[in-house]
Amino acid sequence: MSATHFIADLHLVDDHAPAARRLAGYLAGPARDADALYVLGDLFDVWIGDDGSTARHAATLDAFRALADTGVPIYFMRGNRDFAVGPTFEARSRLRIIDDPTVLTLYGVPTLLAHGDVFCSDDVAHQLFRAKYTDARWRERRLALPLWLRRVVARRARRRSAAAKTTKPAYIMDVNRTTVAAMAAEYDVARIIHGHTHRPADHDDGIARHVLADWRPDRAEVLVVDRNGIRRAPLGAGGGFA
Ligand code: MN
Repeated sequence: MSATHFIADLHLVDDHAPAARRLAGYLAGPARDADALYVLGDLFDVWIGDDGSTARHAATLDAFRALADTGVPIYFMRGNRDFAVGPTFEARSRLRIIDDPTVLTLYGVPTLLAHGDVFCSDDVAHQLFRAKYTDARWRERRLALPLWLRRVVARRARRRSAAAKTTKPAYIMDVNRTTVAAMAAEYDVARIIHGHTHRPADHDDGIARHVLADWRPDRAEVLVVDRNGIRRAPLGAGGGFA
């Protein structure tokens, strides 16, 4: 049966990472049967710009392109780690960049797609950063900085984020339910699919909220949506459905 696939939060470091190899197997395997594939952000652990990051991830971009060449439409939503993707990324991977959030009617069910950080409204510092990186003019100014400086900024940001994870209370790192409900009302949906929090789960408190799994060396998962509903499909080491 036809189905639409969703993944997020692979945090690929380079083409040699275990997750990158598993992804390549998936893109050449089960993904070819999908009606469409959506990547909802943080595919890369960091993307400092097409000029500085394309070479590290060339094989991954080509694997997406090979999937698109078979006729499967593929879409990418920027995450807070890979907001700097640009035209070279798009042309080479054939991933089409879509807005965060986007409403998609999936087999008759209006569904809000988001990276997910928009719901984490208790993390005020992150929301200040999000307001910047979702602004095209800010991204343009950032990309105008020399590559060496963007490398320094990215390294510092990752260090800060790692430190914050150990000190910020857990609830701040998760979604705010009031924000989730407000956005569901604003966009008139009863179903949400997102990533970012690394807390894979299927919630249903009036709004069905499906949180995508982050990929780890020993765990990878695709969210598969079809006419009958939603299921989580684990991937084996070779990228096939386990
Ligand atoms: Mn994220």
